[in-house]
Amino acid sequence: LRKAVIAGNWKMNKNRAEAKALITDLKPLVADASCDVVICVPYTNLETALAATEGTNIKVGAENCHFEKSGAFTGEISADMLTEMGVEYVIIGHSERRQYFGETDVTVNKRTKAAIAAGLNVILCVGEMLEDRENGITAELVAMQTKIALKDVSKEELKQVIIAYEPVWAIGTGKTATAEQANEVCAIIRSVIAQMYDQAAADAMTIQYGGSMNAKNAEELVAQPDVDGGLIGGAALKAEDFSVIVKAA
Ligand code: 13P
Repeated sequence: LRKAVIAGNWKMNKNRAEAKALITDLKPLVADASCDVVICVPYTNLETALAATEGTNIKVGAENCHFEKSGAFTGEISADMLTEMGVEYVIIGHSERRQYFGETDVTVNKRTKAAIAAGLNVILCVGEMLEDRENGITAELVAMQTKIALKDVSKEELKQVIIAYEPVWAIGTGKTATAEQANEVCAIIRSVIAQMYDQAAADAMTIQYGGSMNAKNAEELVAQPDVDGGLIGGAALKAEDFSVIVKAA
């Protein structure tokens, strides 16, 4: 029905030499993976990662891209610049972009559309803050983030989108969502997709969980019916840990 995707989000970690070493270690460990394997790396490591993964089952992604094609946007990278290099994935709307860099649902939508138009596969991140969960608005908030992010994205274009449910309180905190919590919200997102498109689109949508997923808890999380893999931060920085997660999926 749908394939699980395990994606690493390296965030602002690893210089070129470290990136090369990590990928060299990772390659044999994930060579027989039954899920799709993606590593999203800093822009400065894209070329290194593409070269090091050539001919392997590891796909390379960036961690963001701008919504304009080109122009006076100092410091930004366009989606076309990524595809020209051979990059296949891009993370859009990560909570760290939303929290620290002024990303909004509207700019997430713009970036998502630009990335799709360029031919990239988008890993679209949604998720509530602790306060939202405590206020009981997780379902509404995640539904809203999903709806705005996918505004004007056609059913055909939706095939280029993966959604990552990342509760902000679970990111980098060691406080993982329980398997039930993760499954519950992934199922809510799937029902939003069914509402916006149709049941077939919802059934085909890969919905990952992210937030302190590690070698120990991955198996239980990815075993949930609505959790189709994971977006991994800290544990993606160690080949052994990341490969255990890949094998769990
Ligand atoms: P951690 O796995 O370090 O909690 O990070 C999750 C994340 O933000 C992946 O995008």
